[in-house]
Amino acid sequence: MTLVIPALQRIQQQFGFLKPEALRQFSEETGVPLYRLHTVASFFPHFQLRAPKPVTLRICRDMACQMAGSGAMLRELQGLGSHVAVEGVSCLGRCDRAPAACVAVTGAEHEYYYMRRSAAELKQITGDWLRGEPRPADYDADQLSSPAPSTIDPYLGKGPAYDALRTALALRDAAIERAIKLLAQRGVFGRDELEVFREGAVESRIERPMRKELAEAIHFWQIEADWTQGEELSGWSEILLRELQEADLRGMGGAGIPATQKWRDVRDAVRTAFRTKDDTRAFIVVNGDESEPGTFKDRELLLRQPHLVVEGVILAGLVTEATEGFIFIRHEYPEQIAACRAEITRAEQMGFCGAKASVLGRPFPVSVFVSPGGYICGEQSALIEAMSDRRGEPRNMPPKLETNGLFDLPTLVSNVETFAWVPFILTNGGAAYAAAGVNGWHGRRIFSVSGDVHRPGVYEVPMGMTLRELICGEEYCQGIVDGRALKAFAPSGPSGGFLPAKLKAGAGLPRDHVNNKAWQALASRRGIDPNAEEIDILDLELELNLFRALSPTQALGAGLVVYAEGRDMAEQAVSSLEFFRNESCGKCVPCRLGAQKIASLGSSLVAGQISAERWENELVPLVSEMGKAIEMASICGLGRSVPVPLRTAINYFGDDVAGHLSNGNSAKPPATARGENE
Ligand code: SF4
Repeated sequence: MTLVIPALQRIQQQFGFLKPEALRQFSEETGVPLYRLHTVASFFPHFQLRAPKPVTLRICRDMACQMAGSGAMLRELQGLGSHVAVEGVSCLGRCDRAPAACVAVTGAEHEYYYMRRSAAELKQITGDWLRGEPRPADYDADQLSSPAPSTIDPYLGKGPAYDALRTALALRDAAIERAIKLLAQRGVFGRDELEVFREGAVESRIERPMRKELAEAIHFWQIEADWTQGEELSGWSEILLRELQEADLRGMGGAGIPATQKWRDVRDAVRTAFRTKDDTRAFIVVNGDESEPGTFKDRELLLRQPHLVVEGVILAGLVTEATEGFIFIRHEYPEQIAACRAEITRAEQMGFCGAKASVLGRPFPVSVFVSPGGYICGEQSALIEAMSDRRGEPRNMPPKLETNGLFDLPTLVSNVETFAWVPFILTNGGAAYAAAGVNGWHGRRIFSVSGDVHRPGVYEVPMGMTLRELICGEEYCQGIVDGRALKAFAPSGPSGGFLPAKLKAGAGLPRDHVNNKAWQALASRRGIDPNAEEIDILDLELELNLFRALSPTQALGAGLVVYAEGRDMAEQAVSSLEFFRNESCGKCVPCRLGAQKIASLGSSLVAGQISAERWENELVPLVSEMGKAIEMASICGLGRSVPVPLRTAINYFGDDVAGHLSNGNSAKPPATARGENE
């Protein structure tokens, strides 16, 4: 049972900060020691241990917002008076509407978000709030959703009917009927006992006393053993899993792990628990933290299609035999939190989830868990730690979350989009989803695109579509702003670094591209000379497996950021470094100190304080060594990403780096904090 974080959220909402008296009272009432409350509260940036000023204006500093001049706005808006605090903040998840800002008002229900506002407008808005005149926020629901074709919602135009779940339940119930018939033919059990069997097969957990033979039959049903007719009987969940497998559905959060692998691992862990433990609870957790700069696709799914997420969670619970579902959503998404809660209530009323899910046949409560904040909570084990009332620090693994997740029990954690595709796949079939890819790849996925494109936004595309089609296509981003050429592309927020517009042999092309099969196949599909020493990055097909095959360390995430000619990639790299420095959880010393050291070197670089000689002879080797140490000694992906932005800036955008060296040919004025001079 999670107590601390919801209580801290309640206290902060009531008093505007974690009032010491309220913390003490909670500690006395619950027996949770005060030091534990402080241990948790001091970890998450959202919790305020001191009374804030009546109004706090926070402006996003990252990627698209930085490109839109948020650094200059932050400087301009300093000194708005003793009652207003002005702060920089990590990504707010509105990169397509940059710059993004939020206003926190003491005593207000939640924070208010403002997008694409000028410094003068934000000044006016904070002034109004201070005078007690609420200013309407820029709501996500009022903004244009993705204008491109979307197929993820099988209920489009007819309302969410949970048809995929109904089909799955029909499959389960038909299998149970066949099993009962078989048992009746064997004549081992009477009518009443067969009814108990039915109950046990649906609920998975039956505590009343019963004959040993009946308990065994239920038990064997649960673990899909001793049913000689195989999938026709208790193997019904395997039929559903096979559809997901045929779809080749993979995790959409970045790692791309096959969904079926996780679902099977959790189901197996639950069945093992049936045999060995008393506590047979298990959990489904939707990772809706989405705090990586440049990534905002789940914002739209959670807001506009929450029924797909809720249905996906219930289906996962049904197949894995988990007992409870959670949708973990970042606190900066208040509309999405409300939309999911409303959808859960609707699903409860339909009997699909809740304490008494009549149609499901067994209890399966689903609820929203509001994130206490911080990029690191997107890391799945850190998310689980936060849900367990601890500091959100990633765990050392193994054991895996699938066996030892929330409260040390089997837990399936997946991205919002992964769950949201499940109703489509189980309605239309796995083969239909797989066939939706192009150029030999499988399925579709959703990207967030921001930066220097005409139409930033959220786009569902077939996997394997080229970057050119996404960036330049009329249906999608409609090209680069101001007719400028493409200079760089961030394929995974700040984590994947920056790729140049032209990939050259030894600088962006795969190592030994002539013998790289993925490269040769891509070249043949795109009509490129396989021996070419340079290719246009726009010819790359958007598919994680292709990126990995070209270079094992190259990520393709969901947040794509586009940079036009004229952008300074050294400054962009330093901005990304500062993000990692700010968001490192501090558990691993090399990540904590290394991120600070490299970010500080980066800041000195863009401030024009480093000579070319020192940079070349001393600092480049030092950055390289530190980068290797951080990568090797970091527990989680954040640490492994720390060196990437500066490394790619050095490798691919050497002129931008050289332009800042104090005796280089700097054509730019020294930049200020976070390196903006645009
Ligand atoms: Fe925390 Fe960095 Fe270690 Fe990840 S690598 S656990 S962010 S200190």
